[in-house]
Amino acid sequence: MRTLAVLGATGSIGRQALDLISRHPDSFKAAVLTANQNHEALFDLVRAFRPAAAGLVAEPKVLPEDVRFCDWYFGEDASERALRAHRPDDCLAAVVGIAGLGAVMAALETSQRVLLANKEALVTAGDLVMARARALNKPILPVDSEHSAIFQCLEGAGDNAPKRLILTASGGPFRTWSAEAIERATVADALGHPTWRMGKKITVDCATMMNKGLEVIEAHHLFGMPSEAIDVVVHPQSVIHSMVEFSDGAVLAQMGAPDMRGPIGYAMGYPERVPYGAEPLNFAKLTITFEAPDEARFPCLRLAREALASGGGAPAILNGANEAAVAAFLEGRIPFGGIPRLVGTALDRVPKRVIDTMEDVAEADRLARECVNQAIRAL
Ligand code: NDP
Ligand code: MG
Repeated sequence: MRTLAVLGATGSIGRQALDLISRHPDSFKAAVLTANQNHEALFDLVRAFRPAAAGLVAEPKVLPEDVRFCDWYFGEDASERALRAHRPDDCLAAVVGIAGLGAVMAALETSQRVLLANKEALVTAGDLVMARARALNKPILPVDSEHSAIFQCLEGAGDNAPKRLILTASGGPFRTWSAEAIERATVADALGHPTWRMGKKITVDCATMMNKGLEVIEAHHLFGMPSEAIDVVVHPQSVIHSMVEFSDGAVLAQMGAPDMRGPIGYAMGYPERVPYGAEPLNFAKLTITFEAPDEARFPCLRLAREALASGGGAPAILNGANEAAVAAFLEGRIPFGGIPRLVGTALDRVPKRVIDTMEDVAEADRLARECVNQAIRAL
């Protein structure tokens, strides 16, 4: 039996992790559940999973009698304080955005393993997070499906170093759209992902393909590979979750139905697999296609690679600008095509300083958001 903190419990990843816990009550126990402001949803989860602790960023006006049995934490650092007080065996970091970074750093100290869905933590502070994980000798198990796939392929590699990582991308809802149509895409268009059901922010990131750019940076940190050795290929059916090529040209791929409970369960149960009633692949009926990503229609992929090459604060600027631009798009303040333009503007204008501390990361993030919001006001 392992105790698990689920940070971002009310979200898409959080709920799927809780589904796995419900299916395997003898193997996993939800020990800490946290969310941002969705208190009614969190109360329901607390009633169902009876954790030892729970936390919300926004303190609710009243705490219902029937959820008072557990310890409650409120405020920006609710997740961190709950982790420090309760020290669960594992911590699933499934908060969206840089808001989850502090809790990832705390989880490295309080838990034996960090199961990482919160890719923005690695994008913004990858060097600091990985250095802390190495210093504390704590594994970071990837939950992002591409990185879980690569991790699984490397399990079969023995001492052979990979030559190339190949991240697959669904291509998102605008894969076949013209540049003009993409420019004018609505929020409803952008939220209609063809193969995965996810939170709004990552769904928009898939539509711009910034998600794949963030994943290149994530893969760089998790697997210690340079940008040139991390390829992206569009694979609309999303059944090959990613691949690894070796020095002899052999390629290992990890496949399965597109269901995040696969990679979440692999991290939760590692090294054991966790069954969840997965839809088996029917190979006789499967058609698998590939195509090159189009960086002219999807410039975010190029911007992310440029940020990784610039190093220092550039990835944190990329991420902060993207979070601000995606929020503005979802609020109807900018067109879809404004997202890559604003991220490009922030990368041009915000000074790319060296990142030595968490405060440096926060400052790069703040300046990027300020730059984007100023540029929106000037539109
Ligand atoms: P959602 O938007 O569905 O959920 C986000 C969760 O984070 C919610 O529970 C939200 O609470 C909570 N939250 C936000 N800010 C805080 C905070 N400061 N402290 C505690 N909780 C907070 O996102 P997803 O589940 O889709 O994504 C989560 C992460 O996983 C992202 O980094 C994403 O990139 C990554 N990921 C997601 C995949 C997916 O299939 N969904 C696939 C691969 C990676 P509230 O409900 O109160 O707002
Ligand atoms: Mg992914």
